[in-house]
Amino acid sequence: QAKATDGKGYYLFDDQLKEKLQQKTLIAKYLHSALENREFLLHYQPQVHAATGDVVGLEALIRWNHPEKGLLPPGYFITAVEEAGLMTQLTDWVIHEVCRQLAAWKREGLQILRTSVNISNSWFYNRNLIPMLMSIFDHYGLTPDCLEFEITESTALLEEHYPLLQQMRDRGIIVSVDDFGTKYSSLNYLKHFPVSKIKIDRTFITGIGQSSIDETIIKSIVYVASQLGFDLIAEGVESREQTDFLLTHGCEHVQGFLFYRPLPACEIGPLLKRPELAMKAGSSMMEECN
Ligand code: C2E
Ligand code: MG
Ligand code: MG
Ligand code: MG
Repeated sequence: QAKATDGKGYYLFDDQLKEKLQQKTLIAKYLHSALENREFLLHYQPQVHAATGDVVGLEALIRWNHPEKGLLPPGYFITAVEEAGLMTQLTDWVIHEVCRQLAAWKREGLQILRTSVNISNSWFYNRNLIPMLMSIFDHYGLTPDCLEFEITESTALLEEHYPLLQQMRDRGIIVSVDDFGTKYSSLNYLKHFPVSKIKIDRTFITGIGQSSIDETIIKSIVYVASQLGFDLIAEGVESREQTDFLLTHGCEHVQGFLFYRPLPACEIGPLLKRPELAMKAGSSMMEECN
């Protein structure tokens, strides 16, 4: 591998690479202690029934409250977590934290909305997952249908996972395919998919009103989903025009900045008031948002 020098013997790095390397070393160094020091937290983005505005579900999205850098989105550290071999541990933490939060909302008399968790491929290996999950649900007094597992297309394609995904589905855990349509063009694999739900990727939603190809792809996904019996949600909905297009073409559930950004748990609580409690529930019932 050739290395450029400046003539005095110093290696020339391009700034971006340098920054990346520094960031990676820094991140790897702090990840272990971040887990121990509870520096990770979850934000929740509501999923909405577009026609009524009702919140029908939540997606848990991880953030790292870094002591020096502040709140970091997953783009900054997810790859490093994977490379450091900590993904399984982190995912287990996310599942526990979601269940803890749902149980807390339940105790406050709030609705429990199905909450989805992003699951990386590595999480599936070498463990007795079904008993583990069942004991977590038991511990928090929840039923399995309170969780949804979002997997990527590449995970969904691995047939070795099918028996397990099938067992999850049999127990009532929803399994959905995240970022659908971005990686594989073959629809054939959908035949055998032990999943219940498809999330149309934001890149197609962005094309609404701009790209007739994207619009055609969305219409095709809606058609295939309805024919094969998959539930559907559109990700990254940012405009009224996009919402109207989706509703017109049969995609009723949406998630995106137009409706809600990912929010800290304390801002989600007020959205979960049961209608019959809405008048009585004062702010004293809610956790304070600091
Ligand atoms: P994702 O699962 O596809 O999550 C959706 C991402 O799109 C989130 O970014 C969300 O904030 C963003 N988003 C939602 N609505 C809109 C919109 O209207 N416009 C735009 N521009 N963006 C929108 P975030 O939170 O930065 O997460 C990025 C990715 O990181 C996630 O993509 C997911 O793949 C991964 N991730 C997040 N949390 C976890 C986790 O707990 N475990 C794992 N393994 N991955 C996670
Ligand atoms: Mg997701
Ligand atoms: Mg997604
Ligand atoms: Mg996406």
